[in-house]
Amino acid sequence: MRIAISLRRLMSVVAMAVAFVAPGAAQAGTYAQTKYPIVLVHGFLGFSSVLDISYFYGVADRLRADGAKVYVAQLNPAQSNEYRGEQLLQQLQQWAARDGVQKFNLIAHSQGGPTSRYVAAVAPGLVASIGTVSATHFGSKTADYYIAHIGSTWANNVASNIAQVLNAIYNGSAASASPTDLNAALASLSTAGMNTFNSKYPQGKPTTTCGQGPATVNGVSYYSTAGSSVLTNVLDVSDALFALTSQPFGSEANDGVVGKCSAHWGTVLKDNYSWNHLDEINQVLGLRGVFSPDPVAFYDSLANRLKNQGL
Ligand code: CA
Repeated sequence: MRIAISLRRLMSVVAMAVAFVAPGAAQAGTYAQTKYPIVLVHGFLGFSSVLDISYFYGVADRLRADGAKVYVAQLNPAQSNEYRGEQLLQQLQQWAARDGVQKFNLIAHSQGGPTSRYVAAVAPGLVASIGTVSATHFGSKTADYYIAHIGSTWANNVASNIAQVLNAIYNGSAASASPTDLNAALASLSTAGMNTFNSKYPQGKPTTTCGQGPATVNGVSYYSTAGSSVLTNVLDVSDALFALTSQPFGSEANDGVVGKCSAHWGTVLKDNYSWNHLDEINQVLGLRGVFSPDPVAFYDSLANRLKNQGL
């Protein structure tokens, strides 16, 4: 009898303890709890989420679990930096008005970098920081090669049609998608195109070749990072593509699409992660080099850096 009562008491104490602990266990952490919300900005041929697969694979979930408020931009996959920048600006303004947000931390991959810089240049009050990962700040030699050798051939027409189809898929239908312009996109991705863009929007530009730029311009903090590996996982079908797209770089360190030095902007955090251009966004579906750092953990630590900077 006494044992039964003690057991019942013990059970109720355990139940109370579980009830007390369980909500805490389900609550978000604070490691990535930035002052301003984070916006993930995709690159060329990118998307926010398709078939429930995120472009930044697994990144938003981790950031949210660690306390960040995260938005994911949906931009045209094949357009100029300025066109995509205007789209991003509109999305930020809509979110700001709807949710009472003052500023955003933009975290951008590839062409998402110049896209985000456009917004910071025309509306610096909306941007707390821009953190770029292998962004095409000084252009891509792959784009240069494409323009020189493929840009005026029949293959470019095929590629243009593919870009428009992808755009329709990303937006649910062709009717709801803004028109793509592959040639404008490639011009924006080229070395010459970026030289022009950088002279118009120089905020954060490195002061020496392959050096660092100012940490903060017009109240916007600039950080950059780069991968510098091409072939990282034989199981990832995209590696075969990068074996081709990296050819124009010769011996220059690159991630298959973007040269290491081309990705420098503002404060350079690290430019030689053992990632290729898709490993940087944890694609395809998490396949990367066996010993390479976890890209999801990288985005988490970038958010933590922003948090510690009061951003
Ligand atoms: Ca990969």
